[in-house]
Amino acid sequence: MQLTATHINYYHVCHRKLWLFTNGINMEHTSDTVYDGKLLHETSYPQRAERYTEIDISATTAEGIQLTGKIDFYDTKEKIIHEIKRSNKVEEAHEWQVKYYIWLLELNDISGVYAILEYPKLRQTKEVWLSEPDTIYLQETVHRVVALQQSEECPPKISSNICKSCSYYDLCYVEET
Ligand code: SF4
Repeated sequence: MQLTATHINYYHVCHRKLWLFTNGINMEHTSDTVYDGKLLHETSYPQRAERYTEIDISATTAEGIQLTGKIDFYDTKEKIIHEIKRSNKVEEAHEWQVKYYIWLLELNDISGVYAILEYPKLRQTKEVWLSEPDTIYLQETVHRVVALQQSEECPPKISSNICKSCSYYDLCYVEET
């Protein structure tokens, strides 16, 4: 199986969201929130693509799970990952997403990297570093993600505030609207 940063992000948002995504149900094309996020990505820092590098990285775990990631803005000189986000409502998921990138870089013998989460609309930034316990947690999380994907049962709804901005909202709550 191939695992991406999106799997890690969704795992920390909602297990049902991850399960739907890993089972090929993708509704991001219908989501205004996702469209808004992509627009923000393209317009917040127009010069950014010239300054930073887009990189694709991958690694394989001892159990044969393939890990991949695409970092949009990597400062190769300063070893900083810049990740732009629309809101900090699911900041924990954002943090694990960039920690996953740092881990992937470490698996490719690139150390000393950290990430900056950037919220242009909130005018906030946050530095994120990967610790040793974080690495162990990510190793375990990869197995949990695989187990969730292989489960035949769709996890229950979480009925959280974040559901309203989730691309699966209609699918989860259609019978209630
Ligand atoms: S709408 Fe809520 S319960 Fe449904 S997948 Fe999204 S976050 Fe999970």
